[in-house]
Amino acid sequence: MKNGANRFHFFYVNIFCYIISIMMSQNSDYDLIIDILEDILGNHGLHNEDKGQINFDCPVCSYEIKGLDVGDGKNNLEINYKLNVYKCWSCSESHGTHGSLYKLIKKHGNPKHLKNYILLRPEDDNNNFHKKYKKVYLPKEFISLKNIHAAYKLTPHYKQAMAYLRKRNITDEIISKFNIGYCYDGEYSNRIIIPSYDENDEINYFVARSYLSNTKLKYKNPEAQKETIIFNENLVNWNETIYLVEGVFDSIFLNNSIPLLGKFVSKQLFDTLYEKAKNIVIILDGDAWEDAEKLYHKLNCGKLMNKVWVIKLPKDKDIADLQGDLKSFEQKKID
Ligand SMILES: [Zn+2]
Repeated sequence: MKNGANRFHFFYVNIFCYIISIMMSQNSDYDLIIDILEDILGNHGLHNEDKGQINFDCPVCSYEIKGLDVGDGKNNLEINYKLNVYKCWSCSESHGTHGSLYKLIKKHGNPKHLKNYILLRPEDDNNNFHKKYKKVYLPKEFISLKNIHAAYKLTPHYKQAMAYLRKRNITDEIISKFNIGYCYDGEYSNRIIIPSYDENDEINYFVARSYLSNTKLKYKNPEAQKETIIFNENLVNWNETIYLVEGVFDSIFLNNSIPLLGKFVSKQLFDTLYEKAKNIVIILDGDAWEDAEKLYHKLNCGKLMNKVWVIKLPKDKDIADLQGDLKSFEQKKID
């Protein structure tokens, strides 16, 4: 009996020590990360250990924007070392000061900081590498609208999805050409899916646009870096004029167009354009004329010199509104 009680006791002491050791190793892990951060960013401001939240003076605000030798004392850089993310409350929008801790340390630390960080968080380094080349598949719940089975046509999801597409003037011909579909279930539920195929007709990306009117997240796209793909490259004829547009819902209305998936050209797309394009016409949304000008000057150089044009749309119009009919707009060069 006594023996049994002892064993019992021994068991609990062991478990207790084990739990404490896990907690300690987690904690010291966090301490080491904070050490690295302080080494790069100086002393921290507020620190919430429960949440893993800590703030510092933002190096971009302080050094790059204000040209100070020391921090600006505002502690605008918010870091969560449990979630491995950071964001500056002041310059995240204008200067892209947000993202993973890996990015922050790579950008503002020295190689030793990064090496020490990767020792603590090896998975971050791997993610970064794999993300770039991770294979994208269509969601398993994807239903192609081309030749859809009649039974689906009776469902409310189908009707909602089609109503959304019709509202955006998307015809059966466009649906078929781009293999547009939808999901009513799963991670991309209640979303229109527009797939992207590479030059070998392999899927390499997709955009998932909600077809419900009151969603917080209009787009939910796969993790794979959009910077590494050219959307529907399989449909691009490099010998003809290439149209650069903002979004996928623009490009489906305009033959031989490539969506930037934003207002900026990725390095991958720039390099490919430079290598393969003969003529380029830039058409961004009406409210993005400055971005269009910048893009024009970026592309209009070297062997693309004088082979770039731009079309200015009215402020309240995009290509989808015009259903790709640009006849009444002048295609011009900028000085
Ligand atoms: Zn900042």
